[in-house]
Amino acid sequence: MTFDPETTTFLIAGPVRIHPRVLRAMSMPSLNHRGDYFHGIVGEIRELMPVLFGAKGHQLVLSGSGTAGLEAMYAALVPKDRRALVLTNGNFGERSEAIVRRYAGAVSVLSAPWGQSIPADAVRAELEKGDVGAVCVVHNETSVGLANDLPALAPAVRASGALFLVDGISAVAGIPVELEAWGIDAIVAGSQKGLAAPAGLALLHLSDRAVAALHPGTYYLDLAAHLKSLEKNDTPWTPAVPLFLALREALILLREEGLERRLARTHRLAEASRAAVDALGLELFPERRHASDTVTAVRNPEGLGDPQLRKVLEREYNILVQGGQGTLTGKIFRIGHMGIADWPDLLVTFAALERILGKAGRLPRPSAALAAVVERMP
Ligand code: PLP
Repeated sequence: MTFDPETTTFLIAGPVRIHPRVLRAMSMPSLNHRGDYFHGIVGEIRELMPVLFGAKGHQLVLSGSGTAGLEAMYAALVPKDRRALVLTNGNFGERSEAIVRRYAGAVSVLSAPWGQSIPADAVRAELEKGDVGAVCVVHNETSVGLANDLPALAPAVRASGALFLVDGISAVAGIPVELEAWGIDAIVAGSQKGLAAPAGLALLHLSDRAVAALHPGTYYLDLAAHLKSLEKNDTPWTPAVPLFLALREALILLREEGLERRLARTHRLAEASRAAVDALGLELFPERRHASDTVTAVRNPEGLGDPQLRKVLEREYNILVQGGQGTLTGKIFRIGHMGIADWPDLLVTFAALERILGKAGRLPRPSAALAAVVERMP
């Protein structure tokens, strides 16, 4: 078997596999983005967005990847006259920090080592020093396969009165996100993760408080301008038309499955993946009790780096999983199991990992990883 991008078992940590219905939805002749037909599509997207966020509110789509959504959120909402507190414990937290530094008057950073959770007490203590206008956190740290404990952080953020700004790019439609209960003021989702649409769109949900606090930030990504246009099912500039067509179909698919069922399936796939990793004799990278349900990050075993594992999966078994980022390059690999990933994906991936480790004489119990997956199938 050789790598074939059209047939590969595709389990990177996003973009994720796209349903053929979503792919077909993009195959349309050019549309007039100022015409009635396209306005109708934008209108449908508006009606469908609460399916993604699990709540109604001020919601919008930006043409641009997740990072565009983050820049739009931070530019418009981090305060110029007070501190922004950024929580980091992985690559994407550090990216948020870099963006926030461009826009905030002052920035404080609270970090935990990559892969470890940020203690709620430390956040509370930092907030009690006062003067924090916004708390910025990544819900699901894709780089290390860890879900930050937002319910534990939320009460202190609420008590401080700061805006709660969340990078939910690999969390939304992957793990539970309680926008109202946790007092989230703004959250960004990426089209290419739990939603299983193509990469290139960012979706945002804003609270009433956030809308009232919007200030001019970037021109292209001006959230107030986008919200205003959307009232007329329009966009301020030319949108990524084919991606909007795909987005509508991906949202319809999500509505058909139901958000709760997608979250439950993703959780089950994650539990099966963690059990299979244990059975392979491998070690999870993040703190286990905070391991993410959308991406399982695994330490490379001693002596078996990317060339012996990930590259063999790709070259010999036509399976794509993701490597580590930054300082974790070559040290971990990550299996994404969000969106429309399903049991057959896990079965072939863990079968191939068993074979690779078996051939290397490093498999503790043959077939145990496969059994761990099979036992957890519905
Ligand atoms: N934040 C998180 C948590 C992510 O997982 C990603 C992408 O993987 C990003 C930010 C960046 O998003 P994008 O690559 O779509 O700009």
